[in-house]
Amino acid sequence: MALLEVIGLNKYFDGFHVLKDISFSVKKGEVVVILGPSGSGKSTLLRCINGLEEIQSGQIKLNGEVINEDSTKWHLIRQKIGMVFQSYDLFPHMTVYENILLGPLKAQKRDKKEVARQAEELLDRVGLLDRKNFYPRQLSGGQRQRVAIVRALCMNPEIMLFDEVTASLDPEMVREVLDVMLELAKEGMTMIIVTHEMEFAKAVADRIIFIDGGEITEVAEAQEFFTQPKTERAKNFLNIFN
Ligand code: ADP
Ligand code: MG
Repeated sequence: MALLEVIGLNKYFDGFHVLKDISFSVKKGEVVVILGPSGSGKSTLLRCINGLEEIQSGQIKLNGEVINEDSTKWHLIRQKIGMVFQSYDLFPHMTVYENILLGPLKAQKRDKKEVARQAEELLDRVGLLDRKNFYPRQLSGGQRQRVAIVRALCMNPEIMLFDEVTASLDPEMVREVLDVMLELAKEGMTMIIVTHEMEFAKAVADRIIFIDGGEITEVAEAQEFFTQPKTERAKNFLNIFN
């Protein structure tokens, strides 16, 4: 059974049909990379999956259960669907440690000792244990994004969504963030990743979904997509990066 399933999703911004009849599914442990030109609807799609945007028709299912038909449930669902954005969204007035503990303690009412142990373990894994008591402004962009990833992971999500998490970073910091995501993929984390880093996409993806003008125009195994894209639009898109 699919871990996540999107069926016939349509989304409008007023009269503008931004997502057109989107259907796809993601298996447990699978890494799906969404590629497509700027403005094609990638961010909006991730935001719909996480309940940050209302949809006008269609279903989103997590473990077979429809999650988009009762808006009062989103705060619970979001604990299972972790998301990291392009812009740094850590709370500026809280330390790294406080940022990470907030959700598990307040939203999940978990035991502080247990969460603290997990937070330290995760920070250690991304090489930032010694930054635990720093404030976001005292960190580099790459460090902030690694903390944002840890913060999402500390909620024990079933799936992680990444929206161009390295797009605002200086080039020398891109690698350290992508490496964390590669590591997660190896460990079997289910992920949907929007990125323009093609080498990374090749390395991390099981499957590619190509979106253009709000429509899925191609879905393929990663290897197949990069070596023999089926559509002209995908070919042209890949040419830009070669
Ligand atoms: P991508 O992430 O692929 O670059 P987006 O999902 O950000 O694309 O945007 C898709 C389209 O929807 C764009 O034309 C964008 O201008 C439009 N859009 C995004 N957010 C809004 C909004 N809140 N209100 C109106 N239009 C929006
Ligand atoms: Mg976007």
